[in-house]
Amino acid sequence: KKIIITGATGLIGKKLSEELYKSGYQIIVFSRDSKRAKDVLKKDYEYVDWDHRNSSKWADKISDSDVIIHLAGINLFAKRWNDEFKKEIITSRKETTKTLSDVIKSSLNKPKLFISASGVGYYGDGGDEILTEDSPAGNDFLAEVCKVWESEASEVESVGVRRVSIRTGIVLSTEDGALKRMLLPFKLFVGGPIGNGKQWFPWIHIDDIVGIYKFAIENENLSGAVNAASPNICTMKEFAKTLGKVLNRPSLFSVPKFALKFAIGEAGDVVLMGQRVSVDKLLSSGYKFKFENLEVALMDLLKKKRA
Ligand code: NDP
Repeated sequence: KKIIITGATGLIGKKLSEELYKSGYQIIVFSRDSKRAKDVLKKDYEYVDWDHRNSSKWADKISDSDVIIHLAGINLFAKRWNDEFKKEIITSRKETTKTLSDVIKSSLNKPKLFISASGVGYYGDGGDEILTEDSPAGNDFLAEVCKVWESEASEVESVGVRRVSIRTGIVLSTEDGALKRMLLPFKLFVGGPIGNGKQWFPWIHIDDIVGIYKFAIENENLSGAVNAASPNICTMKEFAKTLGKVLNRPSLFSVPKFALKFAIGEAGDVVLMGQRVSVDKLLSSGYKFKFENLEVALMDLLKKKRA
């Protein structure tokens, strides 16, 4: 099977492409800079330069593949959110997804499956409510982004292509993302929860998010939006406490909301707003989590042994 992956050079894409390659899939990397991508990833993938504004250079690859996985999008923490950057957050997801959907729809041989990333930010600030895939979208900026992202992806359904939008929680990895950013203060004995700590923290181990993408390929019954977080998510306060325990450090110094907003601006909402997502859809379709327990997940990531 041939799988095209956009954003393969990112946190999720790097591990996902490797995992799929090991399972015998043929990997075609779509990158804005295929030379750089080749330096970062395995040499025996195929590399294609892609620009969503000019599909003539890559459209033929789409009709020659079985699965398209779309992970590309500018990193939410790359810059402070001003109007210009917010525009980039939207266009790098909406426009890229729209172009891919259009090309899939018009290609002679259509791929069987289009998987696109999305985020639990779809729900906005969910408070304590349990959120299933049928729960309504929020109405803040990120919720709007996720809504248009998913709606562009779902366009392929009109021509009978299966579509899965993975509403991704907070991916835990020591290479990048939330955990990496929280490690330094903890190591310096000044770690703690962010905000008042009561918000839900929909964590997911990097191996499970990779596992879920692979599961979506291999399980034809899965379609539409799918929540992807651990079945045992916790509050920010519990997360910080467990991280402190695993690192053998206290979790005392909470980062007040205003300080985070001051430091990184509106991007802080990503961790200040919580989502208590339910993963019943994933579980009932048969996905088996590798890491259900936070302490075990963190020990694995931080290479700690049980005392
Ligand atoms: P990364 O930020 O690590 O990587 C995303 C990739 O997108 C990059 O490697 C790059 O690939 C491509 N990219 C970057 N900027 C742009 C741009 N302006 N236009 C087009 N493409 C661009 O993402 P992750 O692996 O962490 O996440 C993958 C997807 O999942 C993202 O869309 C993200 O929003 C979503 N997600 C991730 C979460 C997480 O916790 N990690 C949580 C919720 C959602 P290249 O340079 O090769 O083109």
